[in-house]
Amino acid sequence: MASIEYKSKKIETRRGDISHQPDLEAIVNAANAMLLPGSGVAGAIHSAAGNQLAEECRHLAPISPGQAVITSGYNLPNRYVIHTLGPVFGRDKPEAEILANCYKNSLTLCTQKKIRSIGFPAISTGVFGYPVEEAAQIAIRTIKETIDSNPIYPEHIVIVLFTAKDKEIHDLVLKKIF
Ligand code: ADP
Repeated sequence: MASIEYKSKKIETRRGDISHQPDLEAIVNAANAMLLPGSGVAGAIHSAAGNQLAEECRHLAPISPGQAVITSGYNLPNRYVIHTLGPVFGRDKPEAEILANCYKNSLTLCTQKKIRSIGFPAISTGVFGYPVEEAAQIAIRTIKETIDSNPIYPEHIVIVLFTAKDKEIHDLVLKKIF
């Protein structure tokens, strides 16, 4: 675990499964446009949340790249799930801006709902093919810029990484940017 304090916020990297983060009020789903269960993060979140999540999602889909929508967490230990659609690397452009919007719009939803803690997966770095180093820089830079430019609500922001390698990359970027 690596964590830093910045402007009374705690920004942390953590290795683990995004669907097993009981201390966080909201988790972010690296969703597909139709908000369907699918594989990777979306599969893990939907299977832990139960069918009611897919039912609520049905009414909110489709979403566009960079957009974020919020639902209840159902059987998850988290009160909310924020679903955001990352860019498919090499297809959705401008990809860096779209990926940044995923983080910005998710944090804005937290502010609107007064959510104190949020966990992000490494959006777009799985099936969507975004190189992890580049995605990590965009994620962490956007978190910092959002804190700098708005009085945002969440005081605890966590990036949850599935692999040791991805965690290592994010730790280096966290140190470099903050
Ligand atoms: P995308 O379609 O946005 O690329 P994926 O779900 O395929 O989303 O993967 C995003 C990242 O999340 C990848 O780095 C992948 O290794 C990681 N990942 C996959 N399953 C989980 C999980 N259960 N918890 C946290 N991270 C996960």
